[in-house]
Amino acid sequence: MTTRIPVGISACLMGDNVRHDGGHKRSRYCTDVLSRSFELQPQCPEVGAGLGTPRPAMHLVECDDELRLEEVRSGAEHSTALKDWTHETLPGLAHLRGFILMQKSPSCGMERVRIYNEAGHVQHRQGRGLFAAALMEHYPLMPVEEAGRLNDDHLLERFVQRVFVYDDWMRLREAGLTPKALIDFHTRHKFQLLAHCQRTYRELGPLLSDLSGGRLEAVAEHYISAFMAALERPVSRGAHANAMLHLLGHFRDVMEDDQRRAVAEQVDAYQRGEVPLVVPMTLLRLAQRHHPRDYVGGQEYLQPYPDQLGLRNRV
Ligand code: SF4
Repeated sequence: MTTRIPVGISACLMGDNVRHDGGHKRSRYCTDVLSRSFELQPQCPEVGAGLGTPRPAMHLVECDDELRLEEVRSGAEHSTALKDWTHETLPGLAHLRGFILMQKSPSCGMERVRIYNEAGHVQHRQGRGLFAAALMEHYPLMPVEEAGRLNDDHLLERFVQRVFVYDDWMRLREAGLTPKALIDFHTRHKFQLLAHCQRTYRELGPLLSDLSGGRLEAVAEHYISAFMAALERPVSRGAHANAMLHLLGHFRDVMEDDQRRAVAEQVDAYQRGEVPLVVPMTLLRLAQRHHPRDYVGGQEYLQPYPDQLGLRNRV
């Protein structure tokens, strides 16, 4: 069995009865599907902060440019307890390769969390939960998503892909950064980057041409920040088609013209929205199986995550 990647998750999404009303918000997709590839490690910031279950409902109140976690009815404040727990807990989450958060929560919500004024009225809906904000600030490269947003196939596919890339990067870091390791990473993820953002692709390649002296660490930091930011961007069908046709070009000398034309036709069909990504991608993988090319075989783009997740059937 392959090793599962450690990913944090809001405990209520795992079915733990940790919500203020003593219930949970189990996400079956997380517990039954993603858990095959991810070792999901639950955290409940509010229980961790000692607020107990059940507990009064809470919300975020903006006061003197600060966000306070307050009980809705009594106004009792729990920001300090939550921030203290978060401060103590965050360093121990460095091994995680991603985090799935519960939406709308004043502790875990990643976006569109309601912020109230001191009179108890909604001031705006652009807030972020206290734990989520601290997590994303502490680990700016870590892929973070809300369970609700994972219902969108494209957001789900990008999140899973980012987790696998981040895992690869963290394993590189743990083994020790070297010029060769950085260049090898770039080489195997080149076509993923090309599909996501041509501008970043063109910027990052030349950046790696000089890793001499004391430049390596600074270049690596810049490189991975730009790389992970690029992977967050939506990929158009045209961008995928461009990357796949580039890959297909590597088989020019070994495939018959009509075979290559058949693959190119499915790339076109994908670009027109007639077939999902898995169709041309499977043909490219078959081409690689019948006519192995070292460079193509090393591309994570051909299989960025396990097939069993079925994500390329959905985008
Ligand atoms: S949203 Fe976060 S704080 Fe609230 S119950 Fe779930 S894990 Fe706990």
